[in-house]
Amino acid sequence: MPDPAIDVTRLMAERPVVDLHADTFYRLARFADVAKFGARTQEGHIDLPRLVEGGVGLVVQAIYTPKEKTGPEGTDHAMRLAARILEAVRTNPGVGLVEEADDLDRFRGPDSIGFLLHLESVSPFAGEMGFLSLFEKLGVRSVGLTHNHANEAAGGCEDGPDGLGLSGFGRELVSELDRRGILLDVAHLGNRATRELLERARGPVVASHTGFRALCDRPRNLSDETIGEIVRTGGLVGIDFVPGHLVREGPATMDVVLAHIAHVAERFGTDHVAIGSDFDGFESAPPVGLEDASRFPALAARLLAAGYSEADTRKILGGNARRVLGEVLARRARR
Ligand SMILES: [Zn+2]
Repeated sequence: MPDPAIDVTRLMAERPVVDLHADTFYRLARFADVAKFGARTQEGHIDLPRLVEGGVGLVVQAIYTPKEKTGPEGTDHAMRLAARILEAVRTNPGVGLVEEADDLDRFRGPDSIGFLLHLESVSPFAGEMGFLSLFEKLGVRSVGLTHNHANEAAGGCEDGPDGLGLSGFGRELVSELDRRGILLDVAHLGNRATRELLERARGPVVASHTGFRALCDRPRNLSDETIGEIVRTGGLVGIDFVPGHLVREGPATMDVVLAHIAHVAERFGTDHVAIGSDFDGFESAPPVGLEDASRFPALAARLLAAGYSEADTRKILGGNARRVLGEVLARRARR
């Protein structure tokens, strides 16, 4: 068996990691300064130097709108957050926006990172379809209909056991997102809304950042039945590093992250598991050994040491995410 350390250095030099969910600009806007993105700090989990060190080639950056911000206030909030991300793209050499399928291969070199914009809750649309076109123009290529609570489009995972389904507006959005080649993300949706979305969507659909109820039974996490439905769309699930999604109590560890990855890999195959850290989106202590984005090489080493082949390790770290994003974005060229 080859020395994992040597394999990891070679592997990570190719910047294979795709992180399907991060809240870097929400954190920077709240606690710091967006200009800090380019400098290495000890704050939060992500900045440009730590992404480069971690072998990350692509990060899905969220435009998250808290539930208190409804109507025009939510729209204003989301536009400001989008403006800050776009400003970071403009002012950091080597950082670019992934908007079309071809862009997926543009950000692979040293010091080069692709951002893909994700709208986390469509509450900024305030029920108006025109805002989808506006946010699409801003570069949004992935959409989650809700955060934890119901909005104009759908029910959230904290709305009670089954929650609300999709509204008429939500159903129309699912069709439009599919048609436009924008990724559909069921993370944070309620059970009923998730089922209705998966029945309607053309796919592939993802749950970008999540844990699994079989290992940690919480409403925010996915049941095996739902994972199976996501897999049937050709999609995938991204493991997040939020301790409360990984373990019922106590600190999370790298072993627990490995166990969540193995849960999906063994039941549904290594083609349907990915990473969506939720870095910068939580304040509790991250899993021991995965303290920030510079630690992805340690995760790669652990996957190889656990017996995953190099090909499967590549898929889990980012290959699967690239495949699904490529499939969805390719639809843009054809419409
Ligand atoms: Zn989230």
